[in-house]
Amino acid sequence: MTNLPADICLKFKEARKAKGLNQSSLAQMVGCKQSAISMFEGGMVTKLSDETVKKLSEVLEVPLESSAETKKEAISISAGTVAVSGYCPNGDCPSNVPYVVGGRVFYRPSRNIASPTGGIRCACCGEFLEMRCPACGAVLNDGACCAVCGTPYVTPVLPDGMDVAAYAERRREEIRQIKLLAEGGIP
Ligand SMILES: [Zn+2]
Ligand SMILES: [Zn+2]
Repeated sequence: MTNLPADICLKFKEARKAKGLNQSSLAQMVGCKQSAISMFEGGMVTKLSDETVKKLSEVLEVPLESSAETKKEAISISAGTVAVSGYCPNGDCPSNVPYVVGGRVFYRPSRNIASPTGGIRCACCGEFLEMRCPACGAVLNDGACCAVCGTPYVTPVLPDGMDVAAYAERRREEIRQIKLLAEGGIP
């Protein structure tokens, strides 16, 4: 087993205790060493094979859901069957359109599609894409800020002393020009 979140390992440990099993008897039930169980519960998931982890999940009745989700995401990126969308965290990137609210600059990020060929990088500037809120890990929404923790997705890159409204306006015009060039096929 190569990728299993640490919180799942804790769930296994709790479930084992709840069932009144010690590590040795559990190890016998699933056919591995007690030390492997101990390391597994400590988060060293690579010590056990997928098969043993599956047995553990059955014996202890701990679902492997969240790990399956992580795995599915990893597989979809490598196999290229399902695209994962993220946003570019670079304030200078034309995929992020600035606007002003209450005297502050915010950016509405456009979604970049991560593909195995393009990598999980921004199609515009090559920056690594963020797939979740960088502050709290919440799922992305279509706005400028995380709906859970309120953190703006993109940090403003305002030139020193520049008026926010003038910056946003100039930047939107630049982005418009960049898009026109891109659509015209001019490199
Ligand atoms: Zn970018
Ligand atoms: Zn957040």
